[in-house]
Amino acid sequence: MSDSHILHCVQVKKLLKKENPAFPFGGKYRFSPYMACGHRCTYCDGRYEKYHVEGDFDHDITVRENAPELLEKELLKLREPGPICISSGISDPYQPVEKKLQITRECAEVLSRFNHPVIVHTKSSMILRDIEHWEEVHRRSAFTLMISLTMADDSFRSRVEPGASSVEERLKTLAEFRKRGMNAGILAMPFIPYLTDSREQMEELLTALKKTGVQFAMPGLLTLKKGRQKDFFLNSFKKEYPDLIEKLAALFSNEDFYGSPPRGYSHSFHSRMDSLWKEFEMDDLIPHCVYHGQFSLYDEISILLRDMIILYGKQGTRVSRLKTASQKFSAWLTPRKTYYARRRNLDYSALEQEIKALATSGELTKVLGNEKLAEFLFGIINGAVLNYQTLKPDARNESLQRTIVGTKS
Ligand code: SF4
Repeated sequence: MSDSHILHCVQVKKLLKKENPAFPFGGKYRFSPYMACGHRCTYCDGRYEKYHVEGDFDHDITVRENAPELLEKELLKLREPGPICISSGISDPYQPVEKKLQITRECAEVLSRFNHPVIVHTKSSMILRDIEHWEEVHRRSAFTLMISLTMADDSFRSRVEPGASSVEERLKTLAEFRKRGMNAGILAMPFIPYLTDSREQMEELLTALKKTGVQFAMPGLLTLKKGRQKDFFLNSFKKEYPDLIEKLAALFSNEDFYGSPPRGYSHSFHSRMDSLWKEFEMDDLIPHCVYHGQFSLYDEISILLRDMIILYGKQGTRVSRLKTASQKFSAWLTPRKTYYARRRNLDYSALEQEIKALATSGELTKVLGNEKLAEFLFGIINGAVLNYQTLKPDARNESLQRTIVGTKS
């Protein structure tokens, strides 16, 4: 298949999209310099009709030419702290056209002059070209690299992700970012049923990842949405694996709205994966030590409570009290956030101070209806970090500082 591209250059009026709720995976704000993608992954759900990417997904690339200029203008106006994530499900910031166009590089240069944390999702080692900019971002606040990778076998990788970097290049890239002290983890998705999701294959992947020092691997199974995405994927392997494709077509024949495989398959995948991740002591969520200090205090607490419900639930602990406390916190927070959002003269740091004052005075217990949790959060507010493996707080981490929004050198 040819790797030539047709570029559609556009000027956009708005770039940063606010993520609600904020999560370490997608940050607080998100943008993408491109639309459609030359990495040509056969499973890419960017082909799904409802994403409205017109033309040949692999070759017709939309370029947001004015992204760096707009980014600078919008960063100066941001009021709430939180990471800027360069990502989209329908493009990669370091896809082949970036080599010549360098729009992502220009954005990296802009971001290196601000104090916002940054997250980048990619399948390309081209990000190494801009490592000095990302190091500067990390020096000022925090940088997190998330590389997608689900297999250690490059011969199969080159069939499913023909335009992306090899397994070896991606592993080297992760190791280099970790060596320089930046955060790095993998988006281990999508595992392809019957093709890449056996225990042995996942074990091989985790063994390779451990050597790079990555801090997490977030796993996920393939989803195939009815229409262009599903047809393209199944057709791309028809000749090579006719029997397997028949099995896959049967597995995804339920036409679930999200394109998910049946619950039974998904359940056995997750129990296989859970035991392996445990064995390798690999976090399957982005750990607190990575996102600590990158968000406003209230977003960080919301994320932490959500993760604690998942983590305690997985180990069989009853989480009903935790869920109630989390809902109470959200009921306390939501009207306040709306109030701050409507009054542009207000500074969100005052909302953080309000939470700190609640924790210090003991009033947080009333808000949450849970004394033990309020005590635990008092520690978090004072810099403790929850270890997602042991579920115990680690001591205060002095090296992490909260970021200052909208400031520029
Ligand atoms: S890198 Fe991401 S956006 Fe690009 S083709 Fe692959 S899955 Fe799609």
